[in-house]
Amino acid sequence: MKKFPRTLAVLKVLCYNEDMEKFLTDLHTHTTFSHDGKNTPIEMLEGAREKGIAFYGVNEHFDYDYDLSLLSEAERRALKNGDEGEYFHTLRHLQEDYGGVMNVAVGAEFGYSEKEEVQGRYASTYEKYRPDYVINSVHGQDGKDYARYTFTQDKTKTYGEYLRLVRRSLDAPYPYDIVGHVGYIVRYAPFADARLSLAEFGERIDDILLTIVFKGKILEVNTAIAEGTLPTKELVKRYFELGGRKVSYGSDAHKRERIGDKREEATAMLREIGFTCLTVPFRGEHIEVKL
Ligand SMILES: [Zn+2]
Ligand SMILES: [Zn+2]
Repeated sequence: MKKFPRTLAVLKVLCYNEDMEKFLTDLHTHTTFSHDGKNTPIEMLEGAREKGIAFYGVNEHFDYDYDLSLLSEAERRALKNGDEGEYFHTLRHLQEDYGGVMNVAVGAEFGYSEKEEVQGRYASTYEKYRPDYVINSVHGQDGKDYARYTFTQDKTKTYGEYLRLVRRSLDAPYPYDIVGHVGYIVRYAPFADARLSLAEFGERIDDILLTIVFKGKILEVNTAIAEGTLPTKELVKRYFELGGRKVSYGSDAHKRERIGDKREEATAMLREIGFTCLTVPFRGEHIEVKL
């Protein structure tokens, strides 16, 4: 029997215990409530349990940032997320069912938009459902995800605008804990050298990382990219140099097989940089878990 702390109260006491078995976390996952999720909540939770995850976060997409009027009927259907009320209802029940087996956090991923009415909707959703944690992510601009975006400008302008949006998202007028996948645009940008580097964008990147430090937010290390992590090791290292100590690991799994994917790689990178803890957000508290 594995010695996982089963409740948060116990977790807070045990997370510094040297003898404790590695406390595995995954704080960025989706289910079929998200338009792009492939497995049901139960399938995902069972997958997490089998992999020995002790703290598992589900954060469905709330894509109020997409402007559906720009899309065809078929695209609109493909992008439709599940019912919010049903999501929280179902996951809250599962959270209880898994009590004593695995810590399940019921979260939300809010796709940032500069539009005030969109921000207002996120604020109301937060008030209504009180997610256990929120990931604040920039997925696109002008109402479109970068996956469907037509890039018309050069790299300097394109990434400059992306970084401006990420910086703005940090001032979002609703509570959030984690800054999701900084550098997401590189997955879709059409540039021969798509890297988002300090050499080219150092000033804007520093502004973002320092703001995360000052606001006490958590920088996510997301492994849903072919090579390395989002953000890159270079940026995570810079965050550490600037005083950032709060990091989380997220697989961004949309299917069962990817739960915990490249976790070892990500945590080894973090240890190499100098981090000693991962930070787990839960209902406004940030709990440190030994790396
Ligand atoms: Zn995302
Ligand atoms: Zn996600």
